[in-house]
Amino acid sequence: MKAAFDIGIESLTRAGETVASSPFVSDTHEAVTSEATAAGAGKSFYIETFGCQMNVHDSEKVAGFLLERGYRAARDAADADLMLYNTCSIREKAAQKVFSRLGEWRGAGKGSQVARTASLGERTKIIGVLGCLAQQEGEEIFERAPWVSLVCGSASYRKLPDLVAELEAGGRRVMGLDLDTDQTFETEVTRRDNPIRAYITIIEGCDYACSYCVVPHTRGPERSRASESVLAEARRLAEAGYTEIQLLGQTVNSYRDPSPGGLSFVDLLRGVAAVDGIRRVRFTTSHPNDFHREIVEAIDSTPELCDHIHLPVQSGSTRVLREMRRTYTRDQYLEKISWIRAARRPISITSDIIVGFPGETEREFEDTVTLLDEVGYDGVFSFIYSPRPITTAASLPDAIPEAEKSRRLAILQERQRQIQMARNAQVVGESFEVLVDGHNAARGQWAGRTTSNRLINFTSAAENLLGEYVQVLVTRASPYSLVGQHVAPV
Ligand code: SAM
Ligand code: SF4
Repeated sequence: MKAAFDIGIESLTRAGETVASSPFVSDTHEAVTSEATAAGAGKSFYIETFGCQMNVHDSEKVAGFLLERGYRAARDAADADLMLYNTCSIREKAAQKVFSRLGEWRGAGKGSQVARTASLGERTKIIGVLGCLAQQEGEEIFERAPWVSLVCGSASYRKLPDLVAELEAGGRRVMGLDLDTDQTFETEVTRRDNPIRAYITIIEGCDYACSYCVVPHTRGPERSRASESVLAEARRLAEAGYTEIQLLGQTVNSYRDPSPGGLSFVDLLRGVAAVDGIRRVRFTTSHPNDFHREIVEAIDSTPELCDHIHLPVQSGSTRVLREMRRTYTRDQYLEKISWIRAARRPISITSDIIVGFPGETEREFEDTVTLLDEVGYDGVFSFIYSPRPITTAASLPDAIPEAEKSRRLAILQERQRQIQMARNAQVVGESFEVLVDGHNAARGQWAGRTTSNRLINFTSAAENLLGEYVQVLVTRASPYSLVGQHVAPV
């Protein structure tokens, strides 16, 4: 696929950041119905997203449903009739950021009594809050931000057409906060903000009950999508020119096909990998409890399945894992790592870690640091424990002081930086197939990912490489990325 987009490297490589509304590609071939067109005709929308890849993709689907209704995408908030903010509440800081951003939208909303700000345009708009914070705070959002008129959690997205219609008909405030559902969010049209990598959600919600986590409370119970629907979407994406697909789920490998055929997670991986035109399949996030040897065997025997597994451990201490209700011990986790290390091709391993969980002793923290060495991770997302409302851990005794949590985080990150430096240094002189997904004109560099998800910035004499697979020789390494030069097309 040769795409005509000049995408900032940053926009495609940073996780957990705000992603603004942008030019899109649509993966559907269905015509938008005239009835739907009438509903939002002449109106425009803008969606801002904060949070994980699942939120990013949820926004793509919400945008798709609005396009289907006849809305058009506005380039910025000031031009939009409908402003939506898809939110995250996984940590306290994320929730605070949402309210501070909503404060900037004050004055533009239909429900607001206060004066409109010129920077957000002259018309009165509908402002909606979607996602995890919407679910967590519910009506409280109307109290704290009266300019908001729509609040909808992700488990209720299928009700969005009705909620928006109610507002269009003059309603002042509407809410969708139903968690008790066995349905998934299906859209005829999905707006694709990323022209290189396409996301497909295969499982929504979560049935685990980790004691620190709000997700089961904000996203509802686990619901898997029918395998035929997933495979049909993968085929449409391939026809639209995508070569890389990332399957998404909070616990992606807990997938249970609701259709009579009942494909296993591994069957589904192989099925998506077998779609004509698909060259790379990724999946995230895997829960260690549902991580079986068959996944490694599938990667070993299926070239399209990428050499990367994100397997969050959270802590290296079995006692802390028990308090976190993670359902595995340190040794059980390490056994799964040994299966991955025994694979015929090298598979990179990344993880999530929380430091400063209530009652975590210095010794238990050390167990997490030694686990880094034992596994040899290629990347780690590390977080300071943040007490969240509704979670059982929030009422545990022995909270660790913030300064101590920060100290532990710094130690952990420094150790991981050294490990990554050493691991990346080992690949200098090797060449890799890279799918090019960014261009930095100022630095004269292209950027892309290897199958093992390593980021490589490289130089090339070629004019447009976006969306191309090229061979890159690694010339330099740093802890977080590699530098190289384009040697030949693949
Ligand atoms: N479902 C995934 C799993 O089980 O690993 C994780 C999903 S969660 C959205 C992403 C990460 O946020 C978690 O792996 C965890 O490290 C972190 N996280 C969740 N709750 C947290 C909290 N209360 N404080 C700090 N980090 C948290
Ligand atoms: Fe949260 Fe645990 Fe579910 Fe992951 S598995 S989403 S950490 S409850």
